[in-house]
Amino acid sequence: MPTDLTKLDTETLLAVSGKLRARYDDLRARGLRLDMTRGKPSSAQLDLASPLLSLPGPDDYKAADGTDCRNYGNPQGLPEARALLSGPFQIPAAQMVFGNNSSLALMHDCIVYAMLHGTCDSRSPWSKEAAASGPVAFICPVPGYDRHYHLCEEYGIELITVPMTDRGPDMDTVERLVASDPRIKGMWCVPKYSNPTGAIYDEETARRLASMRTAAPDFRLFWDNAYAVHHLTDERVEIPDMLALCERAGQPNRPFVFGSTSKITLAGSGLALFGGSPENVKWLLARMSRRTIGPDKLNQLRHVRFLRDEAGLHAHMERHRAIIGPKFDAVQEIFERELGGSGVARWTTPKGGYFVSLDVMDGCARRVIELAKEAGIAVTPAGATFPGGRDPHDRNIRIAPTFPDVAEVRQAVEGIALCALVAAVDRLLGSRHANA
Ligand code: PLP
Repeated sequence: MPTDLTKLDTETLLAVSGKLRARYDDLRARGLRLDMTRGKPSSAQLDLASPLLSLPGPDDYKAADGTDCRNYGNPQGLPEARALLSGPFQIPAAQMVFGNNSSLALMHDCIVYAMLHGTCDSRSPWSKEAAASGPVAFICPVPGYDRHYHLCEEYGIELITVPMTDRGPDMDTVERLVASDPRIKGMWCVPKYSNPTGAIYDEETARRLASMRTAAPDFRLFWDNAYAVHHLTDERVEIPDMLALCERAGQPNRPFVFGSTSKITLAGSGLALFGGSPENVKWLLARMSRRTIGPDKLNQLRHVRFLRDEAGLHAHMERHRAIIGPKFDAVQEIFERELGGSGVARWTTPKGGYFVSLDVMDGCARRVIELAKEAGIAVTPAGATFPGGRDPHDRNIRIAPTFPDVAEVRQAVEGIALCALVAAVDRLLGSRHANA
């Protein structure tokens, strides 16, 4: 569909509409059952880590320092596991804390602890301040990750959106907001291969985040580096080291860094980690000590045995790329072929991560998803990438190509592209009719 649909006269557009409708009817008649909603690894990816299922083995339970990993204790996690993930996640081993299998759970706990106790440099618990001066607020770049929003919504935290660019959030807006409103205690950041746009925060964005003046003295960057090593090209993109930047800017306690091996090894049985200043680490360990007598160290040990070192981890990620790379290539090829030059859609070409972000014509995302559903293709609900499920332009659709196989990805993406065209042409004709 190389023609710019927005420039066609009404008669030609009507003809195009007829042809697209016929193609859509064919698509529906195929009775597809495809699911593009799940941003999770495929079974083939999980198979890559199957040796973990028999590690560390019946006689291997001692850590390098002699710790018996079967027992309670060692709340911060094994030194060798921290050393293994220190480089990839840009966290000094001494400043890393392991949770269990979910970084989202660590984010949740940090928010709850801050609400109930305050952070290490809070004047009082965030919930108390909220009772006195109005709800705590977080900044969230949009489009973004729905589970971040749900977490805030769960605890009455207001979400203030700022537009995302391909270099990170719009920093002029962020600086203005955080400087003027002491209720703004936090900000969500997915700095590398962002969910869903694939954006990568650049040096200037990171420097401004580290040094900006905030009205709240206990403001925190929730630096969710979920896709730190999840490259889709030969380029191993590096992002600025936020812990180091904040320390240099005189704001050592500003970042809470999160990461996990969910999409490195096993999504349900990986290692989740936190990184922060020594004060933040002390604060978190003190809170966690009331909650658990220690994390799952056997899982840490088996990860060390399996991945071995940083080189082993990167080699493992190359094997992931061999599986998912062709799926992302298929998305690009099909969107380019079906939607390139149509004037009614644009999409991202991520260098890593798990998603492609598709913007269809304004006011059409819901309709596209409805049409796709009627044709048997499940797509992430419209609005999911915005707080409250409300996309102000009703145009963003998150494409998650990792889980289905390549043939299914091709079919689903071809279907979605066709639905995007059908919805756009209907809308163009509708608005011309209304203006006639
Ligand atoms: N953060 C982001 C940005 C994600 O996209 C995801 C999963 O899709 C997670 C966190 C979840 O991480 P975990 O499995 O460590 O809880």
